[in-house]
Amino acid sequence: MQDFAYVRPQSMQALGRLLQAQPEARFLAGGQSLLAAMRLGLSAPAQLIDLQDLPELHGIAVRDKGLHIGAMQTHASIAQSPAVRAFCPMLAALAAGIADQQVRSVGTLGGALAHNDPAGCWPAGVLALGATLLTSQRQIAADDFFQGLFCTALRPGELLLAVRFEPALAAAYYKQEQAASRFALLGVAVARLPVARGAGQARVRVALTGLGPGVRRWAAAEQALAAQWGAAALDGLQLPATAALGDVHAGADYRAHLAGVLCRRLVSRLSQPPAPVNTRHGLLQRFLHPLFRSSP
Ligand SMILES: Cc1cc2nc3c(=O)[nH]c(=O)nc-3n(C[C@H](O)[C@H](O)[C@H](O)COP(=O)(O)OP(=O)(O)OC[C@H]3O[C@@H](n4cnc5c(N)ncnc54)[C@H](O)[C@@H]3O)c2cc1C
Repeated sequence: MQDFAYVRPQSMQALGRLLQAQPEARFLAGGQSLLAAMRLGLSAPAQLIDLQDLPELHGIAVRDKGLHIGAMQTHASIAQSPAVRAFCPMLAALAAGIADQQVRSVGTLGGALAHNDPAGCWPAGVLALGATLLTSQRQIAADDFFQGLFCTALRPGELLLAVRFEPALAAAYYKQEQAASRFALLGVAVARLPVARGAGQARVRVALTGLGPGVRRWAAAEQALAAQWGAAALDGLQLPATAALGDVHAGADYRAHLAGVLCRRLVSRLSQPPAPVNTRHGLLQRFLHPLFRSSP
């Protein structure tokens, strides 16, 4: 690994000064992806700016009817947050299903989104929920943020501060795991979002991860589910193999097929009302409900 400088600013002003002096510096969150890339020689920044002491990047709060999660919140802290669990159980379940406890304790929401791994879980959840990414320079809609393989709308020196989620009527994430890493071999996130009063039925957004070079929405499934909510709406709907990429873990045709299977399974479970919690059977059913789980 090439030599590099390490700095740990204590305020946004100090961070600004560091960026002015060294515009090519890279932000360091938990280092779960960046340090691995540096070790492999894929990245060689001259300076790393550690973000952990900046309070502006921490915190989880419900404000103005939206859930704000700071970019430096770890997956583990999101999974355990009562505010996240109450506002959108899908986000807590998604975070709990990432990798292992070690990665979850160090990896961050902001790092995962800025890295935009094509098999990452967070890009799918954030895209399906139509979240807004708040940066040091502007607000970016999730639809504009993810720009293909490890690419995002972030400009050099632009810092992701937090993500804002609007309330969803229902949402869930479901992934077939790649056994070694627990990244998504194929992951599906579905969200039903409210529309303005009198504007018709709920909006439905479907995001797929692990399918190709980056997270993407599945427009045909969204239209079918918006017209008729339920797994039957997806009958006969299939992605072509050309929409997917194959690799050593799975072929393109398998991934495309899996997208349809998982989406149908997810919508089917999501359509069932959560079982009552006042019986032993109800408790078990509720535990098994996809809102509380991230994997089949
Ligand atoms: C073994 C393993 C298994 C994993 N499994 C999964 C999985 O199943 N699902 C999943 O979604 N993820 C998975 N991950 C990824 C993990 O979730 C990390 O969040 C991800 O690697 C990013 O790491 P990090 O947060 O430490 O960011 P870093 O590695 O520190 O940074 C990653 C990139 O983001 C940039 N960056 C970081 N923070 C910011 C910011 N606030 N603003 C702008 N740019 C920023 C950095 O400069 C760098 O380019 C896995 C990782 C490992 C190592």
